[in-house]
Amino acid sequence: MANEITIQDVKVITTQPIGQRLIVVKIITSEPGLYGLGCATFTQRWHAVVAAIEKHIKPFVVGRRVSRIEEMFRMAMVNGYWRNGPVLNNAISGIDMALWDIKGKLANMPVYELLGGKCREAAAIYTHADGRDPLEVADNVRKFMEEGYRHVRIQMGGYGGKSDDMPRPEGSAPGAYYDPRAYTANMLKMMEHVRSTFGDAVELLHDVHERLSPIHSVQFAKDVEVYRLFFLEDLLAPEDIEWSRHVRQVCCTPLAMGELFNNPHEWRILIENRLIDFLRMHISQMGGITPARDAILFANYYGIRTAWHGPGDVSPVGHAANLHLDVWAPNFGVQEWCRFPELVYEMFPGTPVVRKGYMYPNNKPGLGIDVNEALAAKYPCTDIVEQWTQTRLPDGTPARP
Ligand code: MG
Repeated sequence: MANEITIQDVKVITTQPIGQRLIVVKIITSEPGLYGLGCATFTQRWHAVVAAIEKHIKPFVVGRRVSRIEEMFRMAMVNGYWRNGPVLNNAISGIDMALWDIKGKLANMPVYELLGGKCREAAAIYTHADGRDPLEVADNVRKFMEEGYRHVRIQMGGYGGKSDDMPRPEGSAPGAYYDPRAYTANMLKMMEHVRSTFGDAVELLHDVHERLSPIHSVQFAKDVEVYRLFFLEDLLAPEDIEWSRHVRQVCCTPLAMGELFNNPHEWRILIENRLIDFLRMHISQMGGITPARDAILFANYYGIRTAWHGPGDVSPVGHAANLHLDVWAPNFGVQEWCRFPELVYEMFPGTPVVRKGYMYPNNKPGLGIDVNEALAAKYPCTDIVEQWTQTRLPDGTPARP
């Protein structure tokens, strides 16, 4: 009987096929050959997540019934008493996704069927165009449009604001310096060029990456309104979300937010006050498919759509989870996509495929994805102290990356 199948073991698979350290959880069950995969990736603090799973979450879940996803998620969130933080949330996300994968395999259905079935055949995706100047950004947008993309995120010089003209105080520490003034001035020129080059033939997105002070953010949202963005991402830091009310009062630039969220309180307030337009949590950070499902249905009542976080620091298992939610969610908006190379497809058979700007799920049971553990082991995670997140304002003040 399915209800009697229990969790026998939890394995953590870590790998770094490209730049980012990935963490995948494998739940092995009492049913021979039956296992599930989940993504627990927190690339900058991966050792902490591995320890959380092996030392705390595994002893908590081993022996429990695989069928009880809802109960497991609720209990895992409170079992450590302190909750809603990074690391433990990642560990729980991995377990939650793996249990949905197992339930799908037992039902012989893809996870999107368990959620209620498809609202669409594929998920519209966006990818990232960058460049050193507005012309190069436009060239890269054109390349993606030729591949069939209808949504493109436009950035210039990474998250921007790097300027040669940045006099620093004598003796300033090294770091990834940026100038918020230079950032907004340059981005407005870039958006002007890209929008005037393509007209309305493409949806444009942009990520501020919380690099502005709150009042400067309000000004920027107002200034970019004329470029009719599909959305402006992380205009404000989670610590400054009350400022979104002021943004709403001065413009109708659509806002997207959520990749840094840990606590349901953070998205609940934004949804019920209609202060954002797109939710974009990191499913491997918020607790997994179970809380994502809750947030989707809650947001749907308020006309708010989804745009889950989907860069290279989400494992292919996490991307598969995003995609199952995307094809089901009534209020799906768009999906971020990082264009994995062939090696990743070989390491994770079933990694979502993209054709002409749409990402298609397969019809395999569960999340429809597997991992070649021998190949993953050939690309072990490396340890570094992150440099790009050692960001500073021109006078040396530590700033958000
Ligand atoms: Mg972002």
